[in-house]
Amino acid sequence: MPVYKAPIREFEFVLNEYLGLERYQDVPGFSEASEDLRSAILQEGARFCEEVLFPLNQKGDQQGVRYENGTVKLPDGFVDAYKQYVEGGWPSFACDPNYGGQGLPEFLNMAAIEMICSANLSFGITPGLSHGAYNALMLHGSEELKAAYLPKIVTGEWSGVMGLTEPQCGTDLGLIRTKAIPQEDGSYTITGTKIFISSGEQDATDNIIHLVLAKLPDAPEGTKGISLFLVPKVLLDGTRNGVNCSGVEHKMGIHASPTCVINFEEAKGWLISVPHGGMKAMFTMMNSARLYVGVQGLGLAEVAQQNAFAYANERVQGRALTGVARPDKPADPIIVHPDVRRMLLTMKAFTEAARALAMETALKSDLYHRHPDKKVREDCDHFIQLMTPILKAYFTDMGTEVANLAMQVHGGYGYIAEYGVEQYARDARIAQIYEGTNGIQALDLIGRKLPYNTGRYLRQFFHPAMAFVEEHRNNPEMAEFTKPLHKHLGYLQQASLWLGQRGLVNPNDAAGGSVEYLRMFALVVFAHIWAKKAAIALQNRDKDPEYYEAKLATARFFMNKILPGTVSLLQSITNGSDSIMKAKL
Ligand SMILES: Cc1cc2nc3c(=O)[nH]c(=O)nc-3n(C[C@H](O)[C@H](O)[C@H](O)COP(=O)(O)OP(=O)(O)OC[C@H]3O[C@@H](n4cnc5c(N)ncnc54)[C@H](O)[C@@H]3O)c2cc1C
Repeated sequence: MPVYKAPIREFEFVLNEYLGLERYQDVPGFSEASEDLRSAILQEGARFCEEVLFPLNQKGDQQGVRYENGTVKLPDGFVDAYKQYVEGGWPSFACDPNYGGQGLPEFLNMAAIEMICSANLSFGITPGLSHGAYNALMLHGSEELKAAYLPKIVTGEWSGVMGLTEPQCGTDLGLIRTKAIPQEDGSYTITGTKIFISSGEQDATDNIIHLVLAKLPDAPEGTKGISLFLVPKVLLDGTRNGVNCSGVEHKMGIHASPTCVINFEEAKGWLISVPHGGMKAMFTMMNSARLYVGVQGLGLAEVAQQNAFAYANERVQGRALTGVARPDKPADPIIVHPDVRRMLLTMKAFTEAARALAMETALKSDLYHRHPDKKVREDCDHFIQLMTPILKAYFTDMGTEVANLAMQVHGGYGYIAEYGVEQYARDARIAQIYEGTNGIQALDLIGRKLPYNTGRYLRQFFHPAMAFVEEHRNNPEMAEFTKPLHKHLGYLQQASLWLGQRGLVNPNDAAGGSVEYLRMFALVVFAHIWAKKAAIALQNRDKDPEYYEAKLATARFFMNKILPGTVSLLQSITNGSDSIMKAKL
């Protein structure tokens, strides 16, 4: 049976020590989220995830969702769990009090999301999408739409979903065919078919609010002609709208999350934002959803890692190469073997640094919304813009990698269903594809984020990282962390420069190296995170030697064994795209 224990100590380390939240007590809303309240919320979230959601995870995977005459039934126990989730006030957590929210900071929500993704990824998809819909409506909806729909989305009584994809298009949304015809009463009639709609139909909420991309009759060609509409399954007067589910997909993982075909048959909808302004409005939802999907990778990596560590300590096979470790046993636990240790440390180095980056990005989002200083808000926005593709793509690539490593640590038992680890590998895979494939994230990084305003987004990473190296230059204990960080920052600068220049001459050179560049960027961001954690550990190690020594050991492993990957990535990037583009395929 798989295990999951919420990593409360790790959340507290990140919030209190790594992010130093007490520095932000003057920011509106932050003092309310006191250390005591944070701790209470983490404990309660942990209880809910460990005791309610986690026990449903394997059962939900085995039973799956059931499609019956236009309705979709979630697996046994899921509707009740959702009820408990709503009663516990979880959906309203980080929402605006004007619409019934609790106004708590987003970084606490991020911790809750990670725990939910670890405990039961399928369950988490509905609330995750609802929060994205909430964000899009908050920012782009009219006052009337907000007043009518937000309060029940905030409580979780209604859910929000995202309707972009159609049979002929997913990445290239300029090809959508769904039509919106204006009506005299100011509404629109929406007609078309959307596929792969997560939680497009389910039996946990009374209503489902679809945010749908469609084209107006006078729409220009391509993405410039896309508009966003709010289309409820049930209208406010209680009558059923023309929104029908004609089936669910059978798929590799997330079996307890319905992936639906939704037909809009002259459904009544309302414009969000301005005509043809749909992509901008939808990007709010997608950006929020991209961070959330990144955290799916992290959540799965955490639970996979926990199971791998437990198994590696208990499974005995062979003897340690340097001498018997456990003479009381017929063989040593596999955790003594270098390759198993490499796998475990790779998982740990990823999950702990990823958690810090996820929480930092959520904190920046809070500061962006709440900080009185315009310059701080602008910097936070630039940080989020830069990190969103990295977080989405690297976290989900690593979610799959870590789940696979956990399976490898389990040997044959990893491949069979009973131990639960193969489910993590199946569930993790989709996160590399939806919310914009990871290849598209890499194009976003090099095409939009790298060149923006002559590298202004990049400064949000390079400047603090260089300043950190400078600050610790004369500290010999930090040299083993700052030297590699400095060296690899240099490689990343070289790659950025090369891509920036070559992209102008030959766009294939830039696009051909984009995935490698994103990974290289992520590795150097993680090196900065591990160097910062090492500095904290060195300062505090007397307080709790075991805990902080473990941080130093993982930081060392990252610098020695993972960060050098940037060298081959740099070489491959600067080899250009000829060998890709001139090959006859
Ligand atoms: C389980 C599941 C749940 C989903 N949930 C939702 C949902 O809730 N709402 C929703 O609207 N959609 C949803 N989707 C759809 C998902 O977002 C799309 O599948 C995804 O965006 C990719 O689109 P596509 O499948 O059409 O692939 P394509 O766009 O056909 O892409 C195929 C391949 O080509 C690559 N490619 C395409 N264009 C380019 C380019 N210009 N440059 C480089 N490479 C390119 C892609 O990276 C990919 O590798 C879901 C899908 C699944 C499977």
